[in-house]
Amino acid sequence: MKCPNCGGRKAVEIDIHSEGFTAVDSPVKECGACGLVWRIKMVDDQSVVDIIKPANKTPK
Ligand SMILES: [Zn+2]
Repeated sequence: MKCPNCGGRKAVEIDIHSEGFTAVDSPVKECGACGLVWRIKMVDDQSVVDIIKPANKTPK
């Protein structure tokens, strides 16, 4: 799963259960390159990028 912001491949799954989210449908990912936090959710059988936290820095 590439980062939808910068295309980085260093994204890691993060445990956000303690913050009140559920990660049942898809895991939340955090990009190691730009800091974007997102998940993929299914809407009408389409995968939609749901941005949880914007990127910390602009990708180069
Ligand atoms: Zn990124």
